[in-house]
Amino acid sequence: MRKYVIMGVQGSGKGTQSQLLAAELDLVHISVGDIFRWNVQNHTKIGALVRRTMAAGELVGDDLVESVVRERLTQHDWNFGFIIDGFPRNRPQAEFFLESYDIDGVIVLDLPDSEVRRRVLNRRVCPNCGINYNLIDSSPKVAGQCDSCGGELVTREDDTEEALAVRLRDYHEKTNPVIELFRRKEYVLMVDARPAPEAVQEQIRKSLSPPPFEPEKKESAGA
Ligand code: ADP
Ligand code: ZN
Repeated sequence: MRKYVIMGVQGSGKGTQSQLLAAELDLVHISVGDIFRWNVQNHTKIGALVRRTMAAGELVGDDLVESVVRERLTQHDWNFGFIIDGFPRNRPQAEFFLESYDIDGVIVLDLPDSEVRRRVLNRRVCPNCGINYNLIDSSPKVAGQCDSCGGELVTREDDTEEALAVRLRDYHEKTNPVIELFRRKEYVLMVDARPAPEAVQEQIRKSLSPPPFEPEKKESAGA
């Protein structure tokens, strides 16, 4: 059973890399952003609570986020483990998480801010299957249509200059310190997120294998 966290700035490819790794290792991919987007699309109570916050690029309140994560993780459909994406994003969320779950590794996708804008502002998403496209590097075969299901591609409401600025600010102020916190307690694996998706995935798999890998913390456990 493997439990991974994947972190990285907006557009670093957390969703894409999580899906690839989940398929390979039979993990359940849990994306907090996707859960919220599903709720918005389906007009649920949670959707009504988070819609404006998300569109503005702001963080949803910790209590709501934590209850959504807790509820998702109590559905025991993750026999082989999970990879969680978009959580934790700040110190309180990280503390909540570390109290409840032991993590096998934290994958950090490293991408410079200059590249973030280029990727995020050119991103299109399939609302049916969640596949991300980029109009520059990975445009769909037929313009505006998902290669996999034919769904009509959309731009995320928070992929605007304005909302991106807010998201990036929060990332640097609140999420980056979480990486430092993990570095002290967990196995943190930094991966260069600039190459093509397949190459990034290869890096991740190389660093995670051969199983079972030894988290760094075990080295000093005997002392
Ligand atoms: P990105 O990482 O590109 O900003 P996500 O899809 O992970 O996008 O998240 C989209 C939005 O969902 C966030 O901007 C925020 O409003 C909300 N959200 C997702 N995860 C969290 C979280 N852990 N804490 C607070 N808000 C969150
Ligand atoms: Zn699709």
